[in-house]
Amino acid sequence: MPFNTSDLQQTLEHHFKWFHRHPELSNQETGTTARIREILSTTGVTVLDTGLRTGLVARIGPEGNGKVIALRCDIDALPLSEASGLDYASEHASCMHACGHDFHLSAMLGAALLLKEQEQDLAGTVKLIFQPAEEGGGGAQQVLDSGVLDDVQEIYGIHVASELEAGIIAVSPGATYASVGSFRLVIQGKGGHAAAPHECRDPIVAAAQVINAVQSIVSRETSPFDQVVVSVTHIEAGTTWNVIPQEALLEGTFRAFSAEKLGTVATRIEQISRSIAEMYNMDAEYQWHCYTISTNNDPELCEFVVDTAKTLGLRVVPSTPQMSGEDFALYQQRIRGVFWNIGVGSLQGTHHPGFVADPAPLSTAAQLLAALGGAALERG
Ligand SMILES: [Zn+2]
Ligand SMILES: [Zn+2]
Repeated sequence: MPFNTSDLQQTLEHHFKWFHRHPELSNQETGTTARIREILSTTGVTVLDTGLRTGLVARIGPEGNGKVIALRCDIDALPLSEASGLDYASEHASCMHACGHDFHLSAMLGAALLLKEQEQDLAGTVKLIFQPAEEGGGGAQQVLDSGVLDDVQEIYGIHVASELEAGIIAVSPGATYASVGSFRLVIQGKGGHAAAPHECRDPIVAAAQVINAVQSIVSRETSPFDQVVVSVTHIEAGTTWNVIPQEALLEGTFRAFSAEKLGTVATRIEQISRSIAEMYNMDAEYQWHCYTISTNNDPELCEFVVDTAKTLGLRVVPSTPQMSGEDFALYQQRIRGVFWNIGVGSLQGTHHPGFVADPAPLSTAAQLLAALGGAALERG
């Protein structure tokens, strides 16, 4: 029986509120996965055997050959205490869907319902990826390692945009989400009595210099037309007021829109940190890690997303580059794809305890996902 839009919206809002009330952290999404599986099974959608511990992949399309398209959402939440004031706020302590992944997965369930209705008319296969652990938990890599994307030719991913009016679609070619790196620096000094600093080597003074000096990487070494972020976000040293500590720990993140620039920034933080430590006659241990590369929207497929959205009567605007990262980028290294945004009109940004995604555009998101899947197969 075909869905009318208001029925679809009602169904998806119901699912969305349940998922919002029951958030789970990266790689712990067992309840979420079970619920998705249950909803898909009531509509007769096939769930593939991928070996994923959490998250799942569904398959829709007639048996036989043809193109294979993937639609991807993510399902994990964040370790935050919700302060949204919603009557369907999180029931799990220190865990909140503050990045809209509950919206994404509910919209994807809607797309599954819509695609299932037209399954026999599909010109190939659509794989619906309910990816676990997007928030730094290696989820995209797990899906890639499962091999389920090996036969996929194009991939489309959805993310909410808090700042955009509900229902507006934003998409642009090229990189829209940044490459993300993190660093950890330990400055080894020599502790002692705070009354005798000359007998110590104070790592707090060196750490303070490092914090100030790395600011110049963006302000003095980066073109004003380039987007780069360096933030020191964690500092730990000392235990009390009258002891100079032995060591100081700094952690932080840096972001850029190319792997080269990310590497350059990582190296400069290291050089500056080591030089300052040396200047104060101390040692520095430095480690950095690249969490994800930047997204890379295929220009031709991006146009296809714009056209498909417009065919549905949606308003489409260019997306604003984000300094946040997104592991969808890992899929795009292997498969042509587009990561697009839908506005959910939140007063607070994502990752904020007061983030609220307006559920009103859920059916719109589901329709666009389904239309992309169906039309991408038609394009041959
Ligand atoms: Zn997030
Ligand atoms: Zn997210």
